[in-house]
Amino acid sequence: MENTIDVLIGYLIVILIIFLFWVIPIWFGLKWARIKGVSKLWMLSGIHPLTGWIAYLILRFGIDPRKQCDKCKESIKIEAQICRHCGNKMSQEEINISIREFEERKK
Ligand SMILES: [Zn+2]
Repeated sequence: MENTIDVLIGYLIVILIIFLFWVIPIWFGLKWARIKGVSKLWMLSGIHPLTGWIAYLILRFGIDPRKQCDKCKESIKIEAQICRHCGNKMSQEEINISIREFEERKK
């Protein structure tokens, strides 16, 4: 009887560890990848239990929100006035819209 409880507690601890080091950081990481408009491949680094949280924290606090350039479809910062890939100029109106959309996604 005691043995069964030990095994159960063992399972619970394993599940808890999986949640703490994989499920939670990857889930949050993917959410913030979507909000910031960066590649979800970022969270591939979450496969390693130690880097999952780090990747999430960088995504959340260390990366500027991005959007796609209308002309060349490359990823650029949402505040960019000129696309660094094709030189496409963004009006202040477009920049404001991008920033508003980003604030909207954060909710
Ligand atoms: Zn461009």
